[in-house]
Amino acid sequence: SRRNVLITGCSSGIGLALAVKMAKDEERRFKVYATMRNLAKKEPLEEAVGRRLGKTLEIKQLDVCDEQSIKTCVNSIPDRRIDVLVSNAGMGLIGPIECQTIDEMKTVMDTNFFGLVRLLKEILPDMKRRKSGHIVIISSVMGIQGILFNDVYAASKFAVEGFCESLAIQALKFKLQLSLIEPGPVITEFERKVFEDGMKMDLSAADKETAEMFTNIYLKNYKQIFQSLGQSAEEVAEHTIKVILAENPPFRHQTNTLYTPMTTLKYADPNGDLPIDIFYKMVFHHDKIFSASLNFIKLLRWRSRKSFDLGKPSQ
Ligand code: NAD
Repeated sequence: SRRNVLITGCSSGIGLALAVKMAKDEERRFKVYATMRNLAKKEPLEEAVGRRLGKTLEIKQLDVCDEQSIKTCVNSIPDRRIDVLVSNAGMGLIGPIECQTIDEMKTVMDTNFFGLVRLLKEILPDMKRRKSGHIVIISSVMGIQGILFNDVYAASKFAVEGFCESLAIQALKFKLQLSLIEPGPVITEFERKVFEDGMKMDLSAADKETAEMFTNIYLKNYKQIFQSLGQSAEEVAEHTIKVILAENPPFRHQTNTLYTPMTTLKYADPNGDLPIDIFYKMVFHHDKIFSASLNFIKLLRWRSRKSFDLGKPSQ
């Protein structure tokens, strides 16, 4: 039978790609409720989904920072039945914390973390009552490991991961599934917006050394990291669909095999020094080695094709 899927943040990027792929499923296994904060931005989604609009996909307004808009959206769905919730809406923030306001930081936490909490407060009770449902969260490798100048963004994704680890135990009791999708860099609006904001940032509140580190090391390498390691939104959407269709969906799934050596460092050293050391050396001592390894990664990327196995899909 057809599963009702609610996805947040569908006006661009991963949300848009996922909504379109699910709506165009040849076996028509999904009815997609593609939601976005601002319906004025629905055109790219409408265009991409074409004649399936109104059939396997409906567009609805939902702002993850507004409880009432979540309630109104869920109430408009027949029997309020959501079989799969994809919490995707999110935003980034880069730069030295000296140059960010507490309000800017709160907006990131409010969207990335409390956005998920608000969705679950509305949707989880129904799933528990039905003893069925799959909660899929677009987290990030930065939910496992912090990166230079992504302090608050990483904190927001760590919050998401800690919250989900706790909830997963309860969910199991109600036969609910919970999955964290952890992409590495993805080439979307997100990356463009974050970079532009970084370029425009007023760095006067930071000392010279920090400001230079941000401009001459971080921003300088930013585009290159996305170009060499970056996946497309469609690739992340494909991974997400496989997780949704898996018979036993994993709790965590990293979409980018080129990035896993980095996250593995975290588990290799209980003291936690290893990943910090390696990132430090990559950034401050071996700028050339860093570029060389990015080139090597490009080569690997070209050679390795995204093959990943999540077992048999369920019916
Ligand atoms: P994106 O900017 O294209 O998409 C994010 C979407 O969320 C946008 O459509 C935006 O309008 C929406 N959004 C923001 N605030 C909202 C709100 N209050 N209510 C509803 N929608 C809101 O970027 P993306 O890369 O597709 O990001 C999707 C998710 O993937 C995010 O959670 C992001 O943290 C995560 N992610 C992105 C990357 C990357 O490198 N792009 C890497 C790892 C994880």
